[in-house]
Amino acid sequence: MPEQRLVYFSANRLPAEPGVAMEQIRLILEKSRRNNAVANITGALMFSNGHFAQVLEGPQASVEATFERIQQDNRHGNVTVLQVRAIEKRSFANWSMAYLGSESGNEDIDRIAVESGFRPTSLTGDELFASIEIRLRRYTK
Ligand code: FAD
Repeated sequence: MPEQRLVYFSANRLPAEPGVAMEQIRLILEKSRRNNAVANITGALMFSNGHFAQVLEGPQASVEATFERIQQDNRHGNVTVLQVRAIEKRSFANWSMAYLGSESGNEDIDRIAVESGFRPTSLTGDELFASIEIRLRRYTK
C-alpha cells in the first residue's frame, strides 16, 4: 500500500514573546514526536517569518488523522495544504518530527529565517518540500 506525503504551511499564532513561543514550540515537538512515533508518521517542521511549514509522511489514514488534529490547533491558522501525494519512499524516514530552528532560543530561528529567505506563501508544494529537505540536510550535517 503506497504511503502519503502532505505538505502545508500556516500562520503562526503563538504569543509574540520569544520565551513563550519557544516553550510552545518545544511542547508541540514533544507531543508530535510521541504521537507520530505511535502513528508511524515521519516528517519535518519549519518555523520562520511568522509561519509554520510541515511535511507529514506515512500511511494515508495516519496522515489524515494527524493532520485533522493539527488543522484544528489554534496555535496556528490559515492552514493551507500545498501537496498531498502518494510516495514510494519516505524522505524523513529517520525523523518522527525533525525541526528546522533552535529549540533553545530565538536567535537561531532568526538566523535561519534570514539565511533561508524562507517565504512559504510564494512556494508550490514541490518547492516547499524541496526547500525543507535541502535545509534540513544542510542544518543537520
Ligand atoms: P492533547 O495533547 O491531550 O491535547 C488536547 C487538545 O488541547 C488538542 O485540541 C490540542 O490542540 C490542545 N492543546 C494542547 N496543548 C495546547 C497548548 N499548549 N495550547 C493550545 N492548545 C493546546 N501533533 C502531532 O501529533 N503530530 C504532529 O506532527 C504535529 N505537528 C504540529 C505542528 C504545528 C505547527 C502545530 C501548531 C501543532 C502540531 N501538532 C502535532 C499538535 C496537534 O495540533 C495537537 O495539539 C496534538 O496532536 C494533540 O495531541 P493529543 O491528541 O495527544 O491531545
